[in-house]
Amino acid sequence: MKNLKYNDTQLSKELLSEIKEISLSLGDVTIMEFCGTHTHSIFRYGIRDILPKNITMLSGPGCPVCVTDNRDIDYFLALAEMPNTIIATFGDMIKVPGSSKSLQDIKAEGKDIRIVYSCMSALEIAEQNPKKNVIFLGVGFETTAPTVAGAIIEAKKRGMDNFFVYSMHKLTPPAMKSILELGEVKLNGILGPGHVSTVIGSDAWIFLPEGYKIPIAIAGFEIIDILLGIKALLRMIKDNTPAVVNTYIRTVKPKGNKLAQDVMYEVFEVTDSYWRGLGRLPESGLKIRDKYEDFDAKKKFLVNTSEISENRFCKCGEVIRGVISPLECPLFKDVCNPSNPIGPCMVSSEGTCNAYYLYGARL
Ligand code: SF4
Repeated sequence: MKNLKYNDTQLSKELLSEIKEISLSLGDVTIMEFCGTHTHSIFRYGIRDILPKNITMLSGPGCPVCVTDNRDIDYFLALAEMPNTIIATFGDMIKVPGSSKSLQDIKAEGKDIRIVYSCMSALEIAEQNPKKNVIFLGVGFETTAPTVAGAIIEAKKRGMDNFFVYSMHKLTPPAMKSILELGEVKLNGILGPGHVSTVIGSDAWIFLPEGYKIPIAIAGFEIIDILLGIKALLRMIKDNTPAVVNTYIRTVKPKGNKLAQDVMYEVFEVTDSYWRGLGRLPESGLKIRDKYEDFDAKKKFLVNTSEISENRFCKCGEVIRGVISPLECPLFKDVCNPSNPIGPCMVSSEGTCNAYYLYGARL
């Protein structure tokens, strides 16, 4: 695959025709793409429309902003209202609504909220503002956590005392396990996350075929990558040979990226975590180790949050679990849209509702 062009039209056609051929001998098949970036790529390339009718792609919980629970959102909103504080965050979090407001609302009230593209930028802001507390909102999966850990290590080296991280990092395998154990959706295969697997390795998904008899194909994000992944899944489903197949070998190795894992676990340790739509999942989150507690915003700043509530009409939880499509949410489009998002699944650039809206999905 060394010289493969991942947008090659002829190859796409060939893969599609192989997919069609395999699917002729299959009944209805449902594949969940775990990752929000896959969801958006699948829509961008129109893959749902060109697949055979008996193949359904279902979006999963792989959008870190979407799965962040309102407990955490309300907590960091309270942090943002503290005096002498700068909140540094990825742009996706700005419009995410908590129980009563969003960071955008708090910014409009005059608080200092800044969009950054990396945790290191937050650290630089802290250096430039030594009299203020700078809190970085750590949202993301195994892909993001190592870079945040690296910034914390750097802050310790520099002896900083005004830089903090509010860690909401989450681990992806427990969420996949939870969806399978809930049994609300019948899945025949999983399109595995490419970026996350680059860090954790393809071997991290062995529990799917071994424990649940479900095949997984780890895929990249170009059209060829996704079609290769779907073809690999259909083959395994047809032959009843569930396994982990890595179709993203240019990036993903069986054991992942050891250096990234080492940095991540130097700073973080595994803990239980609340997920929107899935509740409290054991050993599914990352908290800052005691060794680095001076940088832990959760320990440094204890704030009161008012009663946690969610918009009762927003169906983000069900969308995250693949139980409903965004089109089944009564608020989709007319009430909830990117200009006026009611739930995080519409805000985030990896959110399923956002993808359905952007690409004009129809039932
Ligand atoms: Fe929530 Fe909006 Fe999605 Fe409905 S369309 S589930 S309100 S984010």
